[in-house]
Amino acid sequence: MKKARKPSPAAGDLRSRAEKRLRSGYRRTVRIGTRTAAQEEGKQMIRRVSVAILALVVFAAQALPAADHGVAAPAITADEALARLKSGNERYVQGKATHPNADAARRAETVKDGQHPIAIVIGCADSRQPLEILFDQGVGDIFVIRVAGNVANTDEIGSAEYAAEHLGVPLCIVLGHTQCGAVTAAVTGGEIPGNVGALIKGIKLAVAVAQKEHPQLRDKDLVPAAIEANVRRSMANLSSRSEALSKLVLEGKLRIEGGVYDLETGQIKWFGGNILPEPSVKTKSTTEEPKPAAGDKEHVSPPEQH
Ligand SMILES: [Zn+2]
Repeated sequence: MKKARKPSPAAGDLRSRAEKRLRSGYRRTVRIGTRTAAQEEGKQMIRRVSVAILALVVFAAQALPAADHGVAAPAITADEALARLKSGNERYVQGKATHPNADAARRAETVKDGQHPIAIVIGCADSRQPLEILFDQGVGDIFVIRVAGNVANTDEIGSAEYAAEHLGVPLCIVLGHTQCGAVTAAVTGGEIPGNVGALIKGIKLAVAVAQKEHPQLRDKDLVPAAIEANVRRSMANLSSRSEALSKLVLEGKLRIEGGVYDLETGQIKWFGGNILPEPSVKTKSTTEEPKPAAGDKEHVSPPEQH
C-alpha cells in the first residue's frame, strides 16, 4: 500500500537547512583557536550549546511533519459517500449498473494521483457478495476488506485504520449477508477444528448475543439474527479495539455503518449509524479478543430497508 501522507516538503527543507546551517556553524566553532584554557573552555561551551541547539531544531523540524500526520481532508463526506453507494446498489438491483471507473484511463489516473476511496467496506469472503459489483463501483472507489464472516479482528481493524487515518476515508461499512456460511457454522456447527474453528469462535460471541435477544429461536431460525449481531459485533470491535478509529468517530471524521446484503434480491438492509461498544454476554469462548464487544440492541437504530 502506498502512503498518501508524506512529511511536507517545507518541513523537510527546514530540517535540512537547519542541520546544514548548524553543522557549518559547528565547524566554524571548532576551528576557533585553543591558545588558552579560558578559550578552550569557551570553545567547549559553544560546542555544547551548538549541539543542544542542533538537537532542539532537528527535533522541532521532525515534529512539524508529525503535526501534518492527521487525517487527510476527505473530498467527500460520509453522507455523500453513503448516498453514492446506495445509488450504486440501487442501479445494481435494477439491472442498470453502469460499471464506472473500470477502464485503462481510471487505472492510469489512480496510479498517477494515488487512491482516494470513498468508503471502507468490510464484507464476507463469500463469492456471492462481490462488493465493488453490488455497489456498482470501480477501480479506486472502495477500500475492500473481505474475510469469512466479515469479522473485525487485528488485521481487519489495522487495514481500516490505514484507510481512515492515512487516506482520510470518512465512511466504514460492515456488510454481512443472508445465508452466511460462517455464521451458520457458528450457530449450528458445534466444535470446528483448525483455523476455521478459530475464526468461528469469535463469531460465536455474536451468536450468544443473538440468542440472548431472541431466546425463543434455535438453530437455523437463529441464523438471521446472528448475522445481524455479527455485523454489530464487528462495528463495535472497530471502535472498541482501535483507539485511532474511536477517536475519528468521536471527532465526527469517521462514520461506521452496518448492513446485511440479501443474496437473492441484491438489496441491503441498513442498520443506520455508529454503534458504541457495550459489554456483551459472557461466553466460555477462549477468543483472543481482550474485551468481546457487541452492540446491544438498544444502541442500534431500527434497521431500515433502502
Ligand atoms: Zn458469509
